[in-house]
Amino acid sequence: MSRPLRPDMRPKLSVVCPMYNESAVLSPFFARLLPALESTGETFEIVCVNDGSQDDTLGKLRAFQEKIPGLRVIDLSRNFGKEAALTCGIDQARGEAAIPIDSDLQDPPELIAEMVHLWKKGFDMVLAQRVDRSTDHFFKRKTAEWFYRLHNMVSDVPIAVNVGDFRLMDRRVVEALKCLPERRRFMKGLFAWVGFRQAILPYVREVREAGESKFSGWRLWNFALEGITSFSTVPLRIWTYLGSLIALIAFVFGVFLIGRTLVFGRDLPGYASLMTTVLFLGGIQLIGLGVIGEYIGRLYGEAKARPIYIIRERYDDAA
Ligand code: UDP
Ligand code: MG
Repeated sequence: MSRPLRPDMRPKLSVVCPMYNESAVLSPFFARLLPALESTGETFEIVCVNDGSQDDTLGKLRAFQEKIPGLRVIDLSRNFGKEAALTCGIDQARGEAAIPIDSDLQDPPELIAEMVHLWKKGFDMVLAQRVDRSTDHFFKRKTAEWFYRLHNMVSDVPIAVNVGDFRLMDRRVVEALKCLPERRRFMKGLFAWVGFRQAILPYVREVREAGESKFSGWRLWNFALEGITSFSTVPLRIWTYLGSLIALIAFVFGVFLIGRTLVFGRDLPGYASLMTTVLFLGGIQLIGLGVIGEYIGRLYGEAKARPIYIIRERYDDAA
């Protein structure tokens, strides 16, 4: 039996589900999530954040509220993106532990019982790690691998490889996360940044139950840029070294040219090499400017200090 919650009660677990156009998966999702939660024997709430879906996700969630005690629905004013929706859900969670989970059943809810078990053993954060990405196609797997490698090479806080947002966080982790004010949120990085005692729980990632992935090609690329520029200034610093190296080479080359002119006299041809050098350096400088621009863009976004998300309506379970 599920344990209904009174509004004044603090549930033990808060499951946080960001949802964007997920009406097709809601039924199978709850059908698996509820038994999984009940098997933990703990009180729980389910915080569903409707991230500006264009389909009937909100209507269906409202209908499910009749049947599922402890289901809270938060409707955002538009699509703010998964990171923002997740932030909203975590902010709203009232439980002693928060568990973000994808609503497409790619994160198996059955893992929650084990997470709770580890949490009770004293871990503040239990990460679910994919041991097998065979459900992702080759390109996504490879690019993910490169991303983790590059990210962990340049960033101050390494993120655990193949760990998504699916995890259990103790209340103290949640409170720590709430103290991070950045607008542009790379949640995986933020989760890693706060630290705490972590346990890793391996699992096999399943295929999406229904509907389609919202992260493809370009969006993933931007997500990767976001991750790196959020947690590293190495791309900014590279230019000092690259510039110094090129200046040094230019100096040595200059000395060589002077020497050669002194010995062999003046020689005029050199148009091709001159053009190549000028264009090459022009390109390098533009890339450098682009990288600086990326960071200025981030500063601009942070300086505006707009809220991360806007709630249109909150449909609490008590309502
Ligand atoms: N999602 C969201 N807002 C968005 C995009 C995605 O809330 O703008 C949610 C989506 O409903 C799902 C989760 O984030 O619950 C993961 O999205 P998806 O399955 O598309 O990503 P993938 O598993 O392919 O990385
Ligand atoms: Mg998915």
